[in-house]
Amino acid sequence: MSDPLLSRTAALAEQFLASLRERPVGATATREGLAARLGGALPAHGQAPLEVVEGLAAAAQDGGIIASAGPRYFGFVIGGSVPAALAVDWLVSAWDQDAGLYACGPAAAVVEDVAAGWLLDLLGLPASASVGFVTGGQMANFTGIAAGRHAVLARAGYDVEEDGLRGAPPVHVVVGAEAHVTILTSLRLLGLGSGRAVRVAADAQGRMQVDALRRALASLDGPTIVCAQAGNVNTGAFDPVGEISDIAHERGAWVHVDGAFGLWAATAPARAHLFRGVERADSWATDGHKWLNVPYDSGIAIVRDHVAHKAAMTGRAAYLVQSDGAERDPQDWTPEFSRRARGFPVYAALRSLGREGVAALVERCCRLATHMADRLRAGAAGAGVEVCILNEVVLNQVLVRLEPKSGDAGAFTRAVVGRVQREGTCWMAGTRWHDLDAMRISISNWSTTEEDIDRSARAILACARAEAEGGGTR
Ligand SMILES: *Cc1c(COP(=O)(O)O)cnc(C)c1O
Repeated sequence: MSDPLLSRTAALAEQFLASLRERPVGATATREGLAARLGGALPAHGQAPLEVVEGLAAAAQDGGIIASAGPRYFGFVIGGSVPAALAVDWLVSAWDQDAGLYACGPAAAVVEDVAAGWLLDLLGLPASASVGFVTGGQMANFTGIAAGRHAVLARAGYDVEEDGLRGAPPVHVVVGAEAHVTILTSLRLLGLGSGRAVRVAADAQGRMQVDALRRALASLDGPTIVCAQAGNVNTGAFDPVGEISDIAHERGAWVHVDGAFGLWAATAPARAHLFRGVERADSWATDGHKWLNVPYDSGIAIVRDHVAHKAAMTGRAAYLVQSDGAERDPQDWTPEFSRRARGFPVYAALRSLGREGVAALVERCCRLATHMADRLRAGAAGAGVEVCILNEVVLNQVLVRLEPKSGDAGAFTRAVVGRVQREGTCWMAGTRWHDLDAMRISISNWSTTEEDIDRSARAILACARAEAEGGGTR
């Protein structure tokens, strides 16, 4: 016997997914339009659930839901959802487990253990490391750096969880010049101060320079954390994490790696050279909701020293039925207490793709990034512009600058980005890279094909031609 509410909702979801390939990729509604359809006073009387669902879907999908789960969304670094992960995510809502404690969700806890083991194997990280399933890269960075803060202060004979930072020896934090903003937010939340971080110079691709790191560390004494990056959000470049780890470890420092999307490239044999030594770091942050293509939200914090990880995160209280044995209490490894059972969709994605499927997904996105750069360069003359690819396309990121025959290339590139966003075939944002305006294309979706790239490149070049010919007209 099927529940009409849930089966009708499933039908609405299926209709939406079926429209993903052809609907305009960007938003077409305005804030005012959405507010008019979705807003109003709090209803005094309840409405039938099916009416709520249908009304919300109709109003939101009328231009207010962007096709970021679809194959031609190239903004930021955003993946879609592989079918098994999406389907299991629905079950997670139906099961409604509180995944904080084993006692509240035994299967959720065991599946997290299993998925953790698979992830460590797949990413080539130490099998004895511990894993926390958090909301995203932000909290994964926070968790890894919190474990590092515990460890470097414990080595100095100080218990930061018990005694706080007041009176603690200062903790030095070293970051690359291209550190992601979430590293700085983590430092703020952890009382380490984003402004106090020592910034180390990066090279033209955004990679931390090891000589500069050596010099920075030589001038620091005492507890130290070094934050490296695997996958720059603009260029896709990797810091030399192995070398950074060796240099930092000589001085007793902790090394945290922000690999929000880049860490997945470890699964693709052709990209393995980027990763040499990444397993020598102490903690790693990555996302399930980016390149693994798991629905939001899904971040993964990994720590070599499980004692430090647990010490930094666990909460103990007399009323809780906590495990003392082999059972995992997920809240020991994450900042959250009660939470969604986010291990299930990660498990489903890994199970449905397998080792080879993850590698193929990652490799395909990287190859399509190169293909996009090639198509844009090949079509430039026909569009009456010069196409400049600003980065070495080593991963899934392409930075494009469009130069018209005359006039300012920065303003021109920004204008073309705006045209592409309105035109609707594909979507990407603009960025600034080393003081230059650029179009930032990130290919992270499991369903993107070569045809999607060709079609998008044609649309981008047509927008460039229109901008070159029409100038200020839209
Ligand atoms: C996306 C990203 C983050 C933040 O991850 P969220 O999942 O958005 O919290 C951190 N670092 C890098 C390099 C990223 O690309």
